[in-house]
Amino acid sequence: MENLIYKKQSSYEKAPEKTEAAFDFAKGYMAFLDNAKTEREAVDAAIALAKAKGYNEYKIGDKISVGDKIYLNNRAKSVYFVKVGSEDIANGIRIMAAHIDSPRIDLKQVPLYEADGMAFLKTHYYGGIRKYQWTATPLALHGVVVKADGSVANICIGEDDSDPIFYINDLLPHLAANQSKEPLATAIKGETLNILCGSAPLADEESDGIKKNVIKLLNEKYGINESDFISAELSLVPAAKARDIGLDRALIGSYGHDDRVCSYPALMALLDTTDDTHTIMCVLADKEEIGSIGVTGMQCEIFTDLMEEIALNLGANPRVVRGNSTCLSADVTAGYDPNFAEVYEKRNSAIIGSGVSISKYTGSRGKSGTSDAGAEFVGQIRNMLDAAGVVWQSAELGKVDEGGGGTVAAYIANRNIDTLDIGVPVISMHAPYEVVSKVDVYAAYEAFAAFCK
Ligand code: MN
Ligand code: MN
Repeated sequence: MENLIYKKQSSYEKAPEKTEAAFDFAKGYMAFLDNAKTEREAVDAAIALAKAKGYNEYKIGDKISVGDKIYLNNRAKSVYFVKVGSEDIANGIRIMAAHIDSPRIDLKQVPLYEADGMAFLKTHYYGGIRKYQWTATPLALHGVVVKADGSVANICIGEDDSDPIFYINDLLPHLAANQSKEPLATAIKGETLNILCGSAPLADEESDGIKKNVIKLLNEKYGINESDFISAELSLVPAAKARDIGLDRALIGSYGHDDRVCSYPALMALLDTTDDTHTIMCVLADKEEIGSIGVTGMQCEIFTDLMEEIALNLGANPRVVRGNSTCLSADVTAGYDPNFAEVYEKRNSAIIGSGVSISKYTGSRGKSGTSDAGAEFVGQIRNMLDAAGVVWQSAELGKVDEGGGGTVAAYIANRNIDTLDIGVPVISMHAPYEVVSKVDVYAAYEAFAAFCK
């Protein structure tokens, strides 16, 4: 009877021998999390890891040969790593695609103002945030400012324990009687997500002394003027570091698990593989949280250009290469949360600790927006995972018609590449501090390692 029935098993039941390795793998992942809170920082951190494994910078148009280990840095915000194998490239490329942007609070281009004893920065949130979660919590400022002369100031304030941090004010309960009656979605308005950034005025200023002091301090440290915000990308992210959650230390709390929790294992699987036969690509994409559009998003033609360059350099027809390529779209799914059981359908939900999750489809309503992987390709990946002893499960996000979401899968599948969603279940996805299980992170790494073989 055993094989007749599908039973979801936790990693602790099915493969207790993996737990120690999982806890060990988590250390590297947590270091990556703290070093890679924005897509720019993730690109830098990933390239540093790859360079240590012998990867070299490549630009579109350069020569590509068998045995090359290369990376294409796309505008410092997305990056493509490729290991060129010895087999006929016409057999296709094995692609793992994850994203490195996460929901956050971006500064507007004219952000700074002063009001009633405080200086603030106006913001425009990025991605799907629940606004109430971002108030009254320590925030750090990350990003770049391109100055009038074209030079760039890199900014990171709030990560060092000696740094100041930033803050979004919230209403005191004593005066929140009306606000508390409002729906969560509207109680905190986008235009009230203003960043508290100063309160001491410059001496002898008749007006806007606090604002002028903030600009003066920025100018002294970074050489920037107020107009330089116009050509800046500055983001507020939680100042907290990745930490173990729970007495057993089996969970990781952090900002940005979505989608570093797939990016890091996919990259490590590529960097660790000893396979020299297959050509393998790991994509770390930007802009997934806002639709994968633009020059650094997964929909950008640079992906197709790179695929074509590989094919042409190795003497194959690019269309044949694409048609024979396969992709794991590596992105998180919702972990089943018994505190909010009403939005999940438990049989088809990802259970924390039960391994990496495959999702045949994502989307919302009647599967709208999903590429819906073919049964044949799901079968191929499922067999691969079983053969490698990976702890895995099958899941979709939540109940039918409860909501939904998408990934980069559709944009890759649209290019005639079989693509399946796979990833780590997350509790409190898109919150400033999200939760994952160490054994699930490790299962993701093992899944990507099996794909690289
Ligand atoms: Mn994601
Ligand atoms: Mn997301």
